Amino acid sequence: MVEKLFRENPYLDSCEATIISSKGDEITLNRTVFFAFAGGQQSDSGIIGAHKVLEARAQGPEIYYKLEDGPSLKPGDKVNVKIDIEKRRKIMRLHSAAHLVYGVFSEKTGIKKLIGSNVAQDKSRIDFEHEGSIAEKLGDVEKEANSLIDAALPIRTYADEKNPDRWWWECGTMKYPCGGTHVKSLGEIGKIKLKRKNIGSGKERIEITLEK
Ligand SMILES: [Zn+2]
Repeated sequence: MVEKLFRENPYLDSCEATIISSKGDEITLNRTVFFAFAGGQQSDSGIIGAHKVLEARAQGPEIYYKLEDGPSLKPGDKVNVKIDIEKRRKIMRLHSAAHLVYGVFSEKTGIKKLIGSNVAQDKSRIDFEHEGSIAEKLGDVEKEANSLIDAALPIRTYADEKNPDRWWWECGTMKYPCGGTHVKSLGEIGKIKLKRKNIGSGKERIEITLEK
């Protein structure tokens, strides 16, 4: 199983690694900084060796990478793994912001039933099961979330004691299971903006963007 360096240190933009397997157009590695789509968080972008990563796929605890001209790499080959760190940093900020907004929103409104989420580099979103518009509630939620960001509460991420491939995100009184990549403090998120979208009957979406 690949060692996921992004869990302990999500700020790391590269690492040396060894190819473990090469099958079809996919390879696996002994260690990686390259996150593969999971829990709604988009994959990183980057290169392995001189090859552009076309797709990163998480399957159980393993990650499979599809490379441009990948089959030329063989088990035992040493490669450098490098990600687009600007994209990663935005994803870290927007992912932590999504947990924060969920925490503040569910606390303030009692609406807790999450039916989807997604984190990309330009915005993140969380979807709730709810009849009627949440638009009126968002001003307060945005204000409260931004004041917690100003207070720069620390964020802790750590492995579950019983299941080391399951991770937790914790900040203040909020605690959620999450294996994504996160900033170390709410302060790193910077000011956020919230927007409501109706995505169908009984479904409400909150879109989160960074002010800069
Ligand atoms: Zn998460």
